[in-house]
Parts: sequence; structure tokens; C-alpha cells
Amino acid sequence: MIPALTPTYNRANLAFEKGEGAWLYTTDGRRFLDFAAGIATCSLGHAHPHLVNAIQQQAAKVMHVSNLFRIPQAEKLAQRLTEHSFADSVFFCNSGAEANEGMVKFARRAQALAGHPERTEIICMDGAFHGRTLAMLSATGNPKYLDGFGTPVPDFIHVPFNDIEAVKKALTARTCAIMLEPIQGESGIRAASGEFLSQLRALCDETGVLLAFDEVQTGVGRTGRLFAHEWAGVLPDVMSTAKGLGGGFPIGAVLATETVAKAMTFGTHGTTFGGSPLACAAANAVLDVLLAPGFLDQVCARARLLDTLLDELITQHPGVFDARRGRGLLIGLHCVPPAGNVLEAATEAGLLCVTAGDNVLRLLPPLTVTEDECLEAVSCLKKTAELLSVNQNAAEAV
Ligand SMILES: *Cc1c(COP(=O)(O)O)cnc(C)c1O
Repeated sequence: MIPALTPTYNRANLAFEKGEGAWLYTTDGRRFLDFAAGIATCSLGHAHPHLVNAIQQQAAKVMHVSNLFRIPQAEKLAQRLTEHSFADSVFFCNSGAEANEGMVKFARRAQALAGHPERTEIICMDGAFHGRTLAMLSATGNPKYLDGFGTPVPDFIHVPFNDIEAVKKALTARTCAIMLEPIQGESGIRAASGEFLSQLRALCDETGVLLAFDEVQTGVGRTGRLFAHEWAGVLPDVMSTAKGLGGGFPIGAVLATETVAKAMTFGTHGTTFGGSPLACAAANAVLDVLLAPGFLDQVCARARLLDTLLDELITQHPGVFDARRGRGLLIGLHCVPPAGNVLEAATEAGLLCVTAGDNVLRLLPPLTVTEDECLEAVSCLKKTAELLSVNQNAAEAV
């Protein structure tokens, strides 16, 4: 019989009762170090007092009023995001896929209002992940995700990642935008080179094509800067973000320059729940922490510590891990045995992480992770490697 909860996920048999910082506690009293962080979402860890307090205070006042009315919390959040990014204007929604849908709508409508309604094609990258709505399945382009869901939505074209010549070849008079993740998350923590991003920017400037970054996973401090594209110094025309923005509370956003955003006039886009007082109070609380002087420097320092320790781990256990990828606290460890087996062994060793494509183990600690917790995580990974060697030796003995 089908479970009451539709079984679309391959869930680990763990249920958590409470969390505190980077730690999660199961209903049966076990403790895990959480380097999954709700898939890069719990940016302040669990039960962060400032975030909890902001949500409690706002929930007790007013949670939701709809976008029929002004929402001061959303105005404040938009103001702060524009002050700290390339953007002039921000639209709030509820998830990453919804933010990406909005981003494509912004780009197409900006082209239409600039006199080019025929410019609807979006050039996407092989290995992309943009979400699970019908259009974002097509932007993602992975046949495994599209299977059984009918004709793909047209006008999403795929080219090899980090290959400027392939992008140039794919450009047509109908190209609207080039859409990519500065670091591909789901497909294995694969970074766009700074050179590729600069070349894309130059190409877009030449052709009037818009540069659209999906920073749903890389954004909001994850890489040690507020947005990952800041490392390359290449600014997009439009950008989506979501995961870490609410610290675990659902919220997504489309950020755009004035040139792009001015196409989004009354009635062109909307969402009932988007930018509610509660969601924006949560995101404002997250920004209070992230934008405090020195916080992102601390994220970079933690990342440097983890990089050093993980490189040592790779040298010590070349039969389990053979490469480190990513930036800041968006870390991928390329595994030698199947990443799923490594994940299971890590869980057994007390560390929660996430797998990614290309046989990668993804480490996404809360941005508030301490030095001691980084040391503890790496010692769990050592135990993981030892567990895997023991299992392998046992298998060979049989
Ligand atoms: C997670 C993710 C999405 C989808 O976000 P949802 O909130 O699950 O809809 C889109 N793009 C990227 C890069 C992501 O990591």
C-alpha cells in the first residue's frame, strides 16, 4: 500500500526532535553533526536565538496579509538586498524553482519590452539544476527528471559548461538569456571559471543577451561572499536566490537591475505567499547576522580550516576521497567508492551530509559552524574512511 506521504524521496531512517546550532538530536536520543543543513538552507544552524525570536515575534503580530497591501518587512529586506548587491529591485517568492521561473519571466519580458518579443531562448549548461517545476525541468535538462512528464517546455537549450565557444555557437537572434549557476551544486560542486563568467558577460554586453545567475544554492553567504559571483567580479542582469535566505524558513527572490525589473509592471507576475511579513522577518534576521561586520570573514576562515583539514584527509585516505571541490562552505569531496556508501558510513560516524552528482559527497555546514565543529566533522570523516576500509577488507575476505 502506498504510504500516506507520497514516496518521492529516498529518506534516511532518522527523525529529529530538535536541533541546536550545527547539531541535530533524534527522537531516540542520538546526536548528529549536521553538515547537510537542510541542503544549504539552515544558514544560521538550528534554533538560532535571533532567528527564532524574529519568527516568534512576527508570528504573534501578523504572519500573512497578501500582496494586496504594503509589507514593511519586505520593503526593508528588498532595500537591504539591493544595497548589498548589483540589483536595483527584488521580487519575493517561496522557493528556488519559483525564483528561477520568475527570473526567466523577468528576462523574457525585458527583451519583449526592449522590442524583442522573439527573444525567448534560454541557453543553459549541461549539468545544471534549476528545480522541479515543468519549465525548470526543461532548464535543468536532465532526462532522468523529465521522464514521464510530457513534452519538455521549449526554448531551453543546453551547452557544455565552461565552454564559451559552445555558447557562441548556440547564440541565435532568438536568444534571450544565458542562465547558469556560478557553482553547479546538485551535479557535483562544479565551478564556472572566472574566465568563463567574464567571457559570458562580454558576450552578453555585445549581443544584448541577458546574464542570469541561479544563486539559489550559492547565494546568501554560502561561499563566503554574500553572492558567489562576487568572487569573479562579474555581475548578472538578473539573479535568483532562495535556499539560505530564510535560514530554514521558505523564501525565494528574484534580484534584477532596473533595466530588467522595469519590465515587471503591475499584474505581470505574482504569488500569494511571496514576501509575507513572516518570511521577510526571518530573512531580515538572517541578514542581521550575515551582514554584521566580520561575519563573512569568519565564514571564509572556517572554510580555509576545512580546506586544509580535508586536503589532509584526502592524502590520508586516497582510497575513499580523491579530490576537493567548491568554495567557502559549499564543499564537495569526490569519492572513490559510491558516494551513497560514503554518506551511509558518515551517518554511522555521526556526520550528516548530502550526496551530489558525479559521485560527490557534499558538505554544507551552517555558516555559523565553529572551529571545533569543523575539527569534529573531519574526525567523523576519518572514522567514515576507516569504516569503509574495514567493510571493504571484510568483503575481500569473503
Ligand atoms: C535547490 C536548487 C533549486 C531549486 O530550489 P527549490 O527550492 O527546491 O525549488 C534551483 N537551483 C539551484 C541551483 C538549487 O540548488
